[in-house]
Amino acid sequence: MKKVRILDTTLRDGEQSPGVSLNVQEKLEIARQLARLNVDVIEAGFAVASLGDALAVKTIAQEVKGPIISSLARSKEKDIDIAWESVRFSEQPAIHTFIATSDIHLKYKLRMSREQALEQAVWAVKRARSYVDEVEFSAEDATRSDWDYLCQVYSAVIKAGARILNVPDTVGYTTPEEMKALIQHLYKHTDGIEKVIVSIHCHNDLGLAVSNSLSAMLGGAGQIECTINGIGERAGNASLEEIVMGLHVRKDFYQAETGINYSEIYRTSRLVSQLTGMLVQPNKAVVGQNAFAHESGIHQDGVLKEKSTYEIMDAKLIGREEKVLVLGKHSGRHAFNKKLEELGYHLSEEELNQAFERFKDLADQKKQIAEADIQFIAADEATRTEEVYRLDFVHVCCGNNILPTATVRLVQENGSTLQGVATGVGPVDAAYKAIGQMVGLSSSLVNFTLQSISGGTEALGEVVVRIFTDDTVYVGRGSHQDVVVASVIAYLSAINKMTQQKKLNPQTQI
Ligand SMILES: [Zn+2]
Repeated sequence: MKKVRILDTTLRDGEQSPGVSLNVQEKLEIARQLARLNVDVIEAGFAVASLGDALAVKTIAQEVKGPIISSLARSKEKDIDIAWESVRFSEQPAIHTFIATSDIHLKYKLRMSREQALEQAVWAVKRARSYVDEVEFSAEDATRSDWDYLCQVYSAVIKAGARILNVPDTVGYTTPEEMKALIQHLYKHTDGIEKVIVSIHCHNDLGLAVSNSLSAMLGGAGQIECTINGIGERAGNASLEEIVMGLHVRKDFYQAETGINYSEIYRTSRLVSQLTGMLVQPNKAVVGQNAFAHESGIHQDGVLKEKSTYEIMDAKLIGREEKVLVLGKHSGRHAFNKKLEELGYHLSEEELNQAFERFKDLADQKKQIAEADIQFIAADEATRTEEVYRLDFVHVCCGNNILPTATVRLVQENGSTLQGVATGVGPVDAAYKAIGQMVGLSSSLVNFTLQSISGGTEALGEVVVRIFTDDTVYVGRGSHQDVVVASVIAYLSAINKMTQQKKLNPQTQI
């Protein structure tokens, strides 16, 4: 069996999904879960992009043990130096540098000749190697580059010290057959390629990202780059769960395996969906809500007689079975904390108090608490933003034949209160208008979604809102059994993130 390395780029390429923005605490929480999932490499960010990015990479490098921690860097001095400053405290630091090699990118984007790009690639790899052994080099837009030129660039960067050669299908253009042929061509015509790992990075513009990745693996690639739930630029990246389960279910064919801890797959998918606010489509392979649901009578009958008639993998293997907890409303704080620790959460005293309060509230209203409810609350508390505005109360008056009205009172950091009343087309609209007037918010609400976390009308309702201001999107999340309250919490969380971001000290040392 061939061992395939998994590089997860949810925190870098995934975070570049339109409408997604994660703060440091959220990135750290996802990185911790990726370590539990046992990915080989976490691409933690693009450190030079902003102070927030650099701080997130640095925090992950310091706190998350197990996987290699990498930062992306263009082939520029400042990028590589800041990438190194951010990853250096990891037990296994790595730098991933890149330059485009396709004629389209060279001519229109970089305005460079092929010779200049090659020279710069070699320079960048050498500079990265002066800091760290684990240096990955990507030829951006590789699949639209001239194959012979690509071999020249890769031969030169191997000589300069690159350990991993990445072949990105940056624009999701290639096909499975072409991809396999390209990798085989590289193996034949690149000097020293037998000493390095060939990596693959596919985008899903034509829905072929997973297929192209697996074909590349058949052509000889030893590392696959992917994201949880396939999130990423435009149509997204290759989806980790599909690649990993494809290799596992069809190991008879692929003769390859990963080191992934399968039982953490579903939980990772849910956490990434929760913190990014990107919902998973119901028919998504492996992790979608319907991925193991049988509707037709013939199928149901078959599955009842023998599961393998219509199921090729076991939902339990990826941690999908609904776990009802023995915890209930009479459980104490100690038992609750023990459960959290079993799930891998280590909350501060204050976070624990908050989480326990919410658990008790939920247990009062819902007979059976699912493990998913607890994970949701714990992740929410662990990533809570500093509260510039906190909800004291919200009262709404709504129904048909009435003008929906909301009264909201907020508590500010210094303890003073603000109170406002507004009318709207519905209770949420009215509450948002009241808040907007109180905090002087001029941003526009760009997106609002509501879903139930564990099913049923008693379940926690989860609201995700996106507000857009100063060219930046802020994602707020809120959960409560009452959807109006959840909506208000979500809105305040987006406003708090926005305020926190604006306060972020530009002198912050990375
Ligand atoms: Zn990409």
